[in-house]
Amino acid sequence: MEYEPVIGLEVHAQLLTETKLFCSCLTAFGAPPNTQTCPVCLGMPGVLPVANKKAVRYAIALGLATGCTISKTSLFARKNYFYPDLPKGYQISQYEVPICRRGFIDIDLEGEKKRIGITRIHMEDDAGKLIHDEENPVSRVDFNRTGVPLLEIVSEPDIRSPEEAVAYLRALRDILLYLGISDGNMEEGSFRCDANVSLRAAGEEKFGTRTELKNMNSFRHIQRALFYEIRRQRALLDAGEEVLQETRLWDEAKQATFGMRGKEEAQDYRYFPDPDLIPITVPDEWIEEIRESLPELPAAKRERFISVYSIPEYDAGVLTSSRALADYFEDAVKGSGEPKKVSNFIMSELMRELKRDERDISECPVTPAMLSELLVMVDQGKISGKIAKDVFEEMYRTGTKASEIVEKKGLAVERDEGALIALIEEILAENPDQVAQFKAGKTKVLGFFMGQLMKRTRGKADPRLSNELLREKLAE
Ligand SMILES: [Zn+2]
Repeated sequence: MEYEPVIGLEVHAQLLTETKLFCSCLTAFGAPPNTQTCPVCLGMPGVLPVANKKAVRYAIALGLATGCTISKTSLFARKNYFYPDLPKGYQISQYEVPICRRGFIDIDLEGEKKRIGITRIHMEDDAGKLIHDEENPVSRVDFNRTGVPLLEIVSEPDIRSPEEAVAYLRALRDILLYLGISDGNMEEGSFRCDANVSLRAAGEEKFGTRTELKNMNSFRHIQRALFYEIRRQRALLDAGEEVLQETRLWDEAKQATFGMRGKEEAQDYRYFPDPDLIPITVPDEWIEEIRESLPELPAAKRERFISVYSIPEYDAGVLTSSRALADYFEDAVKGSGEPKKVSNFIMSELMRELKRDERDISECPVTPAMLSELLVMVDQGKISGKIAKDVFEEMYRTGTKASEIVEKKGLAVERDEGALIALIEEILAENPDQVAQFKAGKTKVLGFFMGQLMKRTRGKADPRLSNELLREKLAE
């Protein structure tokens, strides 16, 4: 039997606001436990929450960036459940009327474009964190995260493979980073993903029973967990058994998913509008003001790089992987006027160095202007392309300008005819056999002579001039 996987994703993205969603407690990650709390986020009786305007603004920005309709009025609701990390006994979320609805994200999978629908984007507050003591049978709770603003981005069940899922998540994360509204850090939990997975017989309209996967902390985990879950469900269906609707946890160490609990239905949460919070109303002027302040987004930037700089789609994809890298590229092109050469240098030399040091482009010791200078020197024939790579390594290590390194180390191309001729004569005199071979018509040995000359000049001999001089000398 052939099956088609049906996947929908729910992403929780923590917003980069200074303060929490309904109180003025700070949100900075890594503060000592329970130092960023107040009666509001601890859910004391009688407190009055007030919505954070910046969080609302960020939600609208993401909605606009993903083609959503922005609700003129949206509501906060209480989602009731008990858990030790939830002091209020309910989470404040948006249920019936989310702030953004019906958008999309376009993904690109090996040249195949596909549009993944977004059902809704809503705001909610985060829960605290339980810290389980490894040595003692106790758990502690840290409420610093309680009340930190989240956006939940719910996709349509349009995703058909683990690869599509990861492409969608990467695209969504890129948009959040470009907008500067979330740091997208999966390790610190500011970008978390749950996946709903089901299988249906090929050609079937109706969805099969789905499971919800949780606890996947990287793109790789997500891809592996989805592969595993698809295989597991297929085996059940092939054996004539049923898939249970449940929440399953991915265990990276065991490379498997495990049933955690039966999946709750919405009615289990007894949602009702939060009586302490007024509806959020969004005037048109505000939407327009936010729309105008949106930066160029990854997909648009990629298209522009391809058309304006005539670089391949692959290069454009790499260079727009972050806003900072894209800016770096554009600044370096401004100085050198050679987009493809700049792109090659960034994608090979520069990114290799950054990766090795686990540095971000913003921490790169070589500025775009410094890279331009280096490439202009190659273009003008002042140094060879091979030497440029060595010079770059030194620039990266020491932060010194290319021209200074070339001068200090005497790396400029050797164009002194007299000096080159003297070396060529030396080489010819030392290798009479090869000279005889050349005269007998084996012109290939020219490469051997060039190699010798480069060795003696440490790669600095001007290739074209050397070639001419060599031929002249051999013809004598
Ligand atoms: Zn607070």
